[in-house]
Amino acid sequence: PIVLGIESSCDETGAGLVRGGRLLGHAVASSMEEYARFGGVVPEIASRAHLHALRPVVRQALAEAGLTLSDIGAVAVTTGPGLSGALQVGLAGAKGLAYALDVPLYGVHHLAGHVAADTLEHGPLPDPCMVLIVSGGHTSLLLVRDLARDRIVHLGDTLDDAAGECFDKVARVFGLPYPGGPAIDRAARAGDPRAVPFPRPLTGPRDEPYAFSFSGLKTAAARWAEGHAHGRLPVADGAASLQEAVADVLTRKAVAACAEYGVQTLVVVGGVAANSRVRSLAEERCRAARIELRVPPLRLCTDNGAMIAAVGDLLVRAGAEPAPLDVSTDPSAPLEYAALHPVAAG
Ligand code: ATP
Ligand code: MG
Ligand code: FE
Repeated sequence: PIVLGIESSCDETGAGLVRGGRLLGHAVASSMEEYARFGGVVPEIASRAHLHALRPVVRQALAEAGLTLSDIGAVAVTTGPGLSGALQVGLAGAKGLAYALDVPLYGVHHLAGHVAADTLEHGPLPDPCMVLIVSGGHTSLLLVRDLARDRIVHLGDTLDDAAGECFDKVARVFGLPYPGGPAIDRAARAGDPRAVPFPRPLTGPRDEPYAFSFSGLKTAAARWAEGHAHGRLPVADGAASLQEAVADVLTRKAVAACAEYGVQTLVVVGGVAANSRVRSLAEERCRAARIELRVPPLRLCTDNGAMIAAVGDLLVRAGAEPAPLDVSTDPSAPLEYAALHPVAAG
């Protein structure tokens, strides 16, 4: 069947259509611009924006694929984690469509979506593969055997801020526009990554090998900026140095995990996988360690509906139970039950 995927967990409203692991069409609307003056997503504004954008993005995705509503054979929707009100808008829309079209509904974990995004470009994930999820809310290392059957070993997480959160917060301190991650990436192009010796948190021999910490880095960046309070802040150097520190820690730990577990493929996903230095350093280090690197194309790194459709498609093909029509959202859905958790919530 053709699976329609709907994503509304944060500030992107996404719709995507996938059949047999192939992306047929997708569209994303973002309410990002609305948050520049607040410096972060405002949940109430996001919910309203999803309400306005949902029908248009579904229509656009169908138009791009050359399909109509009646071609849809299953609906997949993000049930969590994310903003409660935002998730509810997407879920209500998905339920309405599934009911009206009389097709099964699948609840999807947002992070399983980020992982599955890569399959739309590079095909099925090998068993096993190492997955580094780096996004606005998560920084996690997973050993994935089978995403659709929840055969996932959770190796480590951030103990405090996520990598994307660190970029977003430091960007504010540097006076860069929201969202911070892309702004840091752009500013860093003109900077020297060795200009500021930012720390590499939790990389010592006694530290947890697969735990991350980015709040200290955020504080170090703020201190460095304060040190220039009376002069011009060399933003490009600060951005390049911060980006280097984050990319260094992420790729070092991910490659070490591959070596320790004897895994030959590293998959880097989530919004921060769009970062140019994270991508280039991951490439360098994987090549040196003879590990295959997979990173989704830029447009599929940040939130979108195609990745949710990709999980729905995997679930359909794995013979998973659809969700009941009274399935609820789960704003803090745990990673361990990435694929099957939403079904249990019904
Ligand atoms: P989560 O997926 O954990 O629930 P989220 O959905 O808000 O959180 P994503 O959409 O996956 O997160 O990613 C958004 C994050 O990615 C933001 O923190 C943003 O700053 C960051 N990001 C996007 N592009 C880049 C880039 N080029 N460099 C660094 N960070 C980036
Ligand atoms: Mg977003
Ligand atoms: Fe996300």
